[in-house]
Amino acid sequence: MTATLIKGTEIREQILEEITEEVKQIKEKHGVVPGLVTILVGENPASISYVTLKIKTAHRVGFKEIQDSQSVDISEADLLALIDKYNKDDSINGILVQLPLPKHIDEKKVLNAIDPDKDVDGFHPVNVGRLMIGGKEVKFPPCTPFGIQEMIVRAGVETSGAEVVVVGRSNIVGKPIANMMVQKGPGANATVTIVHTRTKDLAAHCKRADILIVAAGVPDLVKPEWIKPGACVIDVGVNRVGEKVSEKTGKKVAILKGDVDFDAAKEIAGYITPVPGGVGPMTITMLMLNTLKSLKFKLGLM
Ligand code: NAD
Repeated sequence: MTATLIKGTEIREQILEEITEEVKQIKEKHGVVPGLVTILVGENPASISYVTLKIKTAHRVGFKEIQDSQSVDISEADLLALIDKYNKDDSINGILVQLPLPKHIDEKKVLNAIDPDKDVDGFHPVNVGRLMIGGKEVKFPPCTPFGIQEMIVRAGVETSGAEVVVVGRSNIVGKPIANMMVQKGPGANATVTIVHTRTKDLAAHCKRADILIVAAGVPDLVKPEWIKPGACVIDVGVNRVGEKVSEKTGKKVAILKGDVDFDAAKEIAGYITPVPGGVGPMTITMLMLNTLKSLKFKLGLM
C-alpha cells in the first residue's frame, strides 16, 4: 500500500484563500479587518525570518499588520507597557511576542501580560484552561495542534472512536493535541494515549494507533513496524540532519527529517504527512485563522 500524502502546503493555500474571502466580507459589512501585531525584540536571524513570514502572510490575507521591532536593550517594564498599549488598541485583535526574549526579560511574565482575548498563539494560561474545558469555551487552540487537527479533518480521516496515540508531552504540541482529540465534538471524540520518554513499551502503543501523532524531535524514532496498516501518521518532527546546496538558490540549506521513517512508513500507513511540507506550513496558517476568529468573537459573529 502507498499512503495518501496529507500536504500542508496545499491545505495552507485552501485555508488562506478562505480567510482572504472572509476578511473581504467582514470589511464590506462591518468596515474593519483583523489586526495583528508582532513584537520582535533584538535581531536574532531566525526570529526575524519567522516574523517576516508571519507579517507577509497577514498582509496576503488582507489583515492590518504591524511589525513592532524593539532594541535588544528594551527593559522588561517598557516591553510590558508596549503590550498594555496593544491590549488597549481596538484595531488590534492578535498580539504575538516572538520568542526567545533576551535573558534580562521574564518570558512568562511577558506572555501572561497579553490580553487572553488577543492571545492568538493560545499559550496564555486562560486559553490553556479554555482548551481543557473544550466546546464553546475554546477561543484560540495553539497553532501547531490546531493545524494538525485541521489536516486530519480535511483529509477525511474518522476521529470519532479512533485510537489516537500522541508521542511527546510538550506544552506546545503533545499535551494540547491530546487534549483536543479527546474532547466531545467534531474532529475529536477519540480515545487518546500520550507516550513519552518514560513510557515502557513505545512500540506496543504506536501499533494500536489509528491516528499516530509524533512530536518527539528524534529523527526516525518511529519504525515502520510500529505502524498499524492503514493508519493516519502525522509527523510533527523537524530535525536538521545535515546540509545541502539548494538547486533553486545555490545556497546551503538544512536537510530536514521527521520523527518517522517516511520512505518505509508510507508503504504501510493509509495517510501520512511529509517533512518538510506537512505540518510545518500549517502553524502560521492557523495563526491567521486565530486572528480572524479574534475579530469575529469581538463582532459577535462567533
Ligand atoms: P519538546 O522537546 O518540547 O518535546 C518532545 C517530547 O517528546 C517530550 O515530551 C519527550 O518526552 C518526548 N520524547 C523525546 N524523545 C522521545 C523518545 N525517544 N521516546 C518517547 N518520547 C520522546 O519538543 P516539541 O516542541 O513538542 O517539538 C517536537 C518536534 O516537533 C520537534 O522536532 C520540533 O521541531 C517539531 N515542531 C514542529 C512544528 C511545526 O512544524 N510547525 C511546531 C512545533 C514543533
